[in-house]
Amino acid sequence: MHANEAARIYFDRAAAQLDLSESMRRLLLTAKREVRVQLPIERDSGEIATFIGYRVQHNDARGPFKGGLRYHPQVDLDDVRALAALMTWKTAVVDIPYGGAKGGVTIAPADCSLRELERVTRKFVDAIHDLFGPDVDIPAPDMGTTADMMAWIMNQYGKYHGFSPACVTGKPVEFHGLPGREEATGRGVGALTLKLLSRLGRKIPGTRIAIQGFGNVGTHAAKYLHDAECRIVAVGDATNSFHDQRGLDVLELLRHARSHAGRLVGFGGGEAITGSELLAADCDVLIPAALGGVITGTNAAAIRAPIVVEAANAPIEPAADDLLAARGVVVLPDILANAGGVTASWFEWVQNRQHYQWSLDRVRGELDRILGQAFEQVWQLSASRQVPLRTAAYMLGVGRVARATVLGGVT
Ligand code: NAD
Repeated sequence: MHANEAARIYFDRAAAQLDLSESMRRLLLTAKREVRVQLPIERDSGEIATFIGYRVQHNDARGPFKGGLRYHPQVDLDDVRALAALMTWKTAVVDIPYGGAKGGVTIAPADCSLRELERVTRKFVDAIHDLFGPDVDIPAPDMGTTADMMAWIMNQYGKYHGFSPACVTGKPVEFHGLPGREEATGRGVGALTLKLLSRLGRKIPGTRIAIQGFGNVGTHAAKYLHDAECRIVAVGDATNSFHDQRGLDVLELLRHARSHAGRLVGFGGGEAITGSELLAADCDVLIPAALGGVITGTNAAAIRAPIVVEAANAPIEPAADDLLAARGVVVLPDILANAGGVTASWFEWVQNRQHYQWSLDRVRGELDRILGQAFEQVWQLSASRQVPLRTAAYMLGVGRVARATVLGGVT
């Protein structure tokens, strides 16, 4: 199933609950602008390579478009379109003054040198600099992109428009970035997992967690949950997966990843398992924190975790979502679970505009407050309307965007 069809199914369920008119549904489902650009660069070898970049600006009824930039070989327009809509609902769920957008380049970053990635990124800015900016659309990192790339974006944008640190978020801390931005998505995933466990009446210490993906989000979620005395029983990335029912040594895993270019390959602890075995691990909470579409109608029956926290965007296909719901598996949806990143991006943008910087403690405190509030609103709506947490989160997000559209008017 295409990512966009999946997003549409979740939207329709919420729209039906909200009793939205056909015309409002059509408006909310249509992206405001979709851009596809050619990005030719000279490789280090002197050869010309041509990449394709996308930016989809889905909705700005509640504020400027906001969303990450993904560098991955599978990026296409359909994918970016679906992720842009997810951002619109996500910023609305946590009630921050943004709309939704997403961008990406169809590229395998691992096959490029740093200088080649810099050329691609600067070319992308050259192609779309008139379409984004602090009051228009603010990109940020996503899979395959880093803080350094955000610094290149700010620098290249500045060549056209002058000093504008608020044109992009997720920048290095020492270059107009925010202390705590890098950890924010994983920390939010961890904090929301604990809130969910508490609401479900489950004891936190000893909770067995399996995490797919050990990049930015997976590592910080693992660390946060480890600090909360949960047991990380399985972890995997694109190279390898490992399992130990007694709990893997998280600090050693983090050290290993740091010293092996972020990869788990060669890790000595635990028993090596396959990626499919990781998803089917015997655990209390499964956290997919890598790619979208990893839990499908085909493998959903194998999932043993009674709780799934969607740290990645769109990791569960609708057919799988239905199968999990029928078995009573509780799913904390992406538009809430991984909203810590965009919330911290908002803090960074606010501070760039004020030319001021908060302390790490204040960032963490504000992040916990905003995510906690959104969690409670989604939980209460789910209980009062007797709908799954995903439908409740979509109802909250889609409802707020619809209301802003009515208030702002369409004429
Ligand atoms: P990342 O590039 O830092 O890490 C991705 C991880 O996934 C790596 O460990 C990689 O090896 C692993 N991976 C890739 N393919 C895999 C496969 N087939 N099987 C198992 N593991 C695989 O990316 P990230 O920033 O951690 O993002 C992860 C997910 O979280 C993405 O879906 C992203 O959209 C979402 N997300 C990220 C942020 C953020 O702030 N970084 C915010 C919201 C959502």
